[in-house]
Amino acid sequence: MTSLSPERTLNRNGLGAPGMHALRVRRMLFLGSAITAVTCLLWGTFFAVRGDWFIVAVDVATITLAGTTAWLTYRGRLRAASRLMLAMMYVVLCINAAVLDIPTAEVPRSTHVFLLALGVVSCLLIRDETVWLRRGIPLVCFATYLVFASSRIGWVTPFAMPDAVRSGGVWANNAVALIVVYLALHVIQNDVAERNVMEIELRDALVHGELLLHYQPQVAAGERVIGAEVLVRWNHPKRGMVSPGEFIPLAEQTGLMQPLGDWVMRTACAQLGVWRLRAQTAQMLLAVNVSASQFAQPDFVARVLACVEQAGADPSRLKLELTESMLAHDLEDIIAKMTALKARGIGFSLDDFGTGFSSLSYLRRLPLDQLKIDQSFVRNMLDSPKEAAIAQALVSLGASLGLQVIAEGVETREQRDHLRKLGCDTYQGFLFSRPLGVLAFEELLAASVAEEAPPVHAARAIASAA
Ligand code: C2E
Ligand code: CA
Ligand code: CA
Repeated sequence: MTSLSPERTLNRNGLGAPGMHALRVRRMLFLGSAITAVTCLLWGTFFAVRGDWFIVAVDVATITLAGTTAWLTYRGRLRAASRLMLAMMYVVLCINAAVLDIPTAEVPRSTHVFLLALGVVSCLLIRDETVWLRRGIPLVCFATYLVFASSRIGWVTPFAMPDAVRSGGVWANNAVALIVVYLALHVIQNDVAERNVMEIELRDALVHGELLLHYQPQVAAGERVIGAEVLVRWNHPKRGMVSPGEFIPLAEQTGLMQPLGDWVMRTACAQLGVWRLRAQTAQMLLAVNVSASQFAQPDFVARVLACVEQAGADPSRLKLELTESMLAHDLEDIIAKMTALKARGIGFSLDDFGTGFSSLSYLRRLPLDQLKIDQSFVRNMLDSPKEAAIAQALVSLGASLGLQVIAEGVETREQRDHLRKLGCDTYQGFLFSRPLGVLAFEELLAASVAEEAPPVHAARAIASAA
């Protein structure tokens, strides 16, 4: 048996090219951090000259937070960066409006107008958060704006800015806040237009056969290929290969997940049906991702069984990957469906294990076969003792529950060796191969079993050509 090709990562989260929305959020976070840091630097200098050290301390803290936001953005942690940016801006603006910018008969308050801008910007930054946050954050910003705009509320302290300083800020603050609102609305408009176009295109893609499946090898000890995870791709006529990270969430939100999921299941089962007839591939296991909305369909069990039967596939070669987050909904229904499919020989793997639903009691109740350790633990395992401890705990937990454990996102030999030491001996990741088209996968398989061929080179050439 052979070693397969070491590969380099596509990007930090493994989701291919980031979507336009993520790109815009990234730019906004960088710009927001820079503007905040520069503004605080200027005001901090002004107040340091005047000896107002409390305000200087607030400015220094804000500059530090802006730096942290920029760093998180740079590391690709957009959600954490967005949350920090919103929390930081909200607190700073409230302090400004309530302590520094107290309205007088001559000069009105003006810093609170940025709360209006923050409310609008937050609609963009938190688009992918829970519904509570998506509705709650803009509401809190607008409500706070309303209070400051409609009352003279505030705490008169020695730090209040004199009217002479504030009067210059009234026009500037209102103008800048309106520009921010305009820019945010422009971005939101673009986002909506882009999503509408993409939804129409995705519907067409299903009809015109622009979707295809890639197969990423899963290997056991000795680097023997035991199967593959099926990963859907969209070969867009203009944009080229679009990552599922971009179109699966869209499919979920627009009701397209059901036809898309059905297509993936039909195609994967058809492949299993073909492979069953060849000795070399008859034992291949195929892992198919199933989304929450797909699994929630009342007739999900019947649909899967119909796919298996029509394709003449061996059900014991099919494995469904469920994610921890979907277990938060109607556990009884999930267990019933899993049990029905399991009775027909279909297996189950728990994907992204360790990242989702924190209660472990469900593990005892689910008829699982495999736990799949999330790639975030594998990625950081060698640098962070905490992540290594979590990886160790996840492997031990799997073993003590009698489940097979597979690690995903294995990119280096060091990671593979460390996992092996922990007791995990099934892997998936770029170290072995990227996801491949079916022909390339079959060639890789052939190269890995051919005794006479120089397997390492043959497999490597195939994986890197794909
Ligand atoms: P990917 O192929 O870009 O898939 C990203 C996610 O899209 C998948 O994450 C899965 O949640 C979803 N997805 C893909 N196909 C389907 C489908 O047919 N149905 C449904 N419902 N969802 C689908 P997941 O499952 O964690 O897949 C692993 C991802 O990690 C894949 O990205 C894969 O290409 C990538 N990957 C594999 N090995 C490595 C590695 O060594 N390093 C890195 N950075 N990424 C890796
Ligand atoms: Ca998966
Ligand atoms: Ca995963």
